[in-house]
Amino acid sequence: MEKIKLLTNLRGLITPDPNQTWKVDFIEAPTIVLRDGRIDWIGRKTDIPYEYGDPEPIDGKGMWASPGFVDSHTHLIFGGDRSQEFNRRLHGVTYAQIASKGGGIRETVRATRQATVSELVTIGSNRLQKMRSKGVLHVECKTGYGLELETESCLLRAYSELLKRGWSLDVTIMPAHDIPVEYAGAPDKYIKVVSEEWQPELIRRHPDVASFCDVFVEKGVFTPEHGRQVLESGRKLGLKPRIHADEFAHTGGAELAAELGAASADHLMFCSDQGMVAMAKAGVIPTLLPATTLFLGMRDFAPARRMIETGCKVALASDFNPGSCACIDPLLILRLGCLQLRMTFEEAFAAMTLHPALSLSRPDLGHLYPGARADLLLWDVKHPLELVYWMGEAYRPEIIYSQSTLKSSCLSKWEARSAKAALQ
Ligand SMILES: [Zn+2]
Repeated sequence: MEKIKLLTNLRGLITPDPNQTWKVDFIEAPTIVLRDGRIDWIGRKTDIPYEYGDPEPIDGKGMWASPGFVDSHTHLIFGGDRSQEFNRRLHGVTYAQIASKGGGIRETVRATRQATVSELVTIGSNRLQKMRSKGVLHVECKTGYGLELETESCLLRAYSELLKRGWSLDVTIMPAHDIPVEYAGAPDKYIKVVSEEWQPELIRRHPDVASFCDVFVEKGVFTPEHGRQVLESGRKLGLKPRIHADEFAHTGGAELAAELGAASADHLMFCSDQGMVAMAKAGVIPTLLPATTLFLGMRDFAPARRMIETGCKVALASDFNPGSCACIDPLLILRLGCLQLRMTFEEAFAAMTLHPALSLSRPDLGHLYPGARADLLLWDVKHPLELVYWMGEAYRPEIIYSQSTLKSSCLSKWEARSAKAALQ
């Protein structure tokens, strides 16, 4: 049965306009009609069309509504953590020294290989609950800490289970995240096995789980030619390419992303001007990860302003991972977008909502215009600018969500719950 609800008593609504690049609207005291899990109408309470009858009200409690944040770059599931390594680095030990003793990413790969699928599911679920409590309502998540066929397959099984539980996710296959010990010194051989054997086998085993493929193109890891092999093989399997590009040095990853028509190119601290022009022309969404730059103690934040001026629809994401960014805080990333990438508040907000949703081919996420999925955040602020201005404040939104990612029998179940309740 059709369910119509009326969200009223809002102080305001902030939403990007999906039809006008970079335009973000601040609408005061709106009333919103929610119908069958979608936004159906926005306007003044006195103008509500008669056809809606007498819908069930939801109290906005005088707060500001916004779309949920979309995090379009995470390495959500991995075993263990690297807090000890983090402190060793603060004591002056270099990453190369840590890696030579089997630490770094190898430690995470070991812990992930040892975990059972059920443990991986619990790890993923706990992290998603934390992210949701901070306002992240859709998450892209990668494999890539197995670096062997069976563990990569276990990671896909874990993501499949999280999807079945109703989490709103997009899954990316990424065995070419690093060179595993078994293939040390033989990146060509590893890329061949990933492209020709593992990716097809992973899709055969888990046909409806992943939508994207990804590769780490970086000096000393994989070349653009390796990247091309992995992404072209993925594309033949129906996966859309994403790419880790130009993070520590310019390698031409952005140019490759444009050439292949990738959905996004991510990191890009050392992106060339030609790379920016090529991405803008090809419609690749540059996805910038400023919390990684911060976590690594680097000063080279990605050139967001130049990208915007070149015509790119920039996105911001977390890069949540155990080695270079143990961060799941969207407000920190929003603030870094404004304070370090020199984006305006409106630009940074669109870059955390609409643009990452576009990079995931989710036109009904990241905004609240009619047709959007009716998952909303309610912020207890006088104006959304406070989310950035009160810099250390740990705002937690209340969440209204449609559960529209669940099976159709659940589509009409609406719940308004506080972040606290969501964590229970
Ligand atoms: Zn990453």
